[in-house]
Amino acid sequence: MRYISTRGEAPALGFEDVLLTGLATDGGLYVPESLPHFSLEEIRSWRGLSYSELAFNVMHPFVDDAIPADDFRKMLDETYSVFSHQAVAPLVQLDSNEWVMELFRGPTLAFKDFALQLLGRLLDYVLEKRKQHVVIMGATSGDTGSAAIEGCRRCEHVDIFILHPHERVSEVQRRQMTTVTGDNIHNIAVRGNFDDCQRMVKESFGNQSFLGGKTQLAAVNSINWARIMAQIVYYFQASLALGGPDRSMAFSVPTGNFGDIFAGYLAKKMGLPISQLVIATNRNDILHRFMSGNKYEQHQLEHTLSPSMDIMVSSNFERLLFDLHGRDGQAVKTLLENATKGPVSIEDYRWKHARKLFDSDAVDDKATCDTIREIQEKNEYLLDPHTAIGVRAARNCRRDSSVPMITLGTAHPAKFPDAIAESGVSVKPELPAHMADLFEREERYTVLDNNIAGVQEFITKHWKNA
Ligand SMILES: *Cc1c(COP(=O)(O)O)cnc(C)c1O
Repeated sequence: MRYISTRGEAPALGFEDVLLTGLATDGGLYVPESLPHFSLEEIRSWRGLSYSELAFNVMHPFVDDAIPADDFRKMLDETYSVFSHQAVAPLVQLDSNEWVMELFRGPTLAFKDFALQLLGRLLDYVLEKRKQHVVIMGATSGDTGSAAIEGCRRCEHVDIFILHPHERVSEVQRRQMTTVTGDNIHNIAVRGNFDDCQRMVKESFGNQSFLGGKTQLAAVNSINWARIMAQIVYYFQASLALGGPDRSMAFSVPTGNFGDIFAGYLAKKMGLPISQLVIATNRNDILHRFMSGNKYEQHQLEHTLSPSMDIMVSSNFERLLFDLHGRDGQAVKTLLENATKGPVSIEDYRWKHARKLFDSDAVDDKATCDTIREIQEKNEYLLDPHTAIGVRAARNCRRDSSVPMITLGTAHPAKFPDAIAESGVSVKPELPAHMADLFEREERYTVLDNNIAGVQEFITKHWKNA
């Protein structure tokens, strides 16, 4: 399988190189040159498979001959055995034909574990083969950092540096990062905000000379194709559990960087009958505004009760724009360069096509709290604020009640106790047993000034072979 850039100028790469590369050299994101397509008969034959067997069938065409089939199967078995539920992604029923798929049974209690548990193993496998080392550098507003650290803690060929804004992530989120032990794990609290962290990461990827050519940077955010790939699997899993592919499904997806929902769009293109995909955003609603009025325009960042979706621009949306423009990289490049200067629109017929593919809704904090409270009262089931946004949007946008509506449950409620309290629910969400002692564990992190030279110096001093 070959991968091409959404901006049309960077060289095509194979799976291994795509895994190790962040942005393409032309500033674009890598996407598969062509998608595998599965017949209904083939998908039907996957009924009853374990999660990791299904994952192999869905992902193998993307990995292709980069990893021998037996090694890849073994890797997937290991990856999905660390989840705390036998079904890996269990479904919980909310109402007739309405479901939540719990994607938070992994080590850090958010759906990002599905991809990052695999990414760590993929990186180590490929780096071992190449006798190579990488430094992962990432910025986090919460969930990505802990999932990446958990995913890479056992990697021999990877040092991981995660920047988070000092005193601006929740205590659970911080402790999930800073209490993980391992010589290759380095947490940096930056005296600045998330955008400052992200900017330093971006600039470092753009100019890696500070590493002196002795190692290279690798990306763990959802610009990394492998993360999207791993997220396609659970759409198939949910469908097969509820009578697919012989009936179609609807999904509602709490969305920030457009990674998770883009995976659903790919599942549909690969042959899975999906009749509706709902983009569910919080007040940071650039995607909803685009879907409603064909205007893609950056607004000020708002802090909400669903911090993992607090973004101003949605990086993976570029992958959809590439398809909407008939895979014309030059057109995407021009559009996104213009988008940094002000609002942009796309041709009407392309936008209408996007509206056929997706519905959308923006849910504010009050409606988020109302939904948490309502589901707790009617079902005795506690939603985290991100999942609550998905459920609310699903109900607002639903087109056909005979089609199962599945909201992706992106985080465990115990990660966001403040939002639960704010919704007026009196039950306290409990951390699962494997994390019950989180508040007693020793923390390790370094506070640094909001200054890229200082951060880069810290990295060059602390990576393993420095
Ligand atoms: C990352 C995250 C999201 C948003 O996912 P995207 O792939 O960026 O759209 C939603 N909910 C939670 C809990 C997350 O951690």
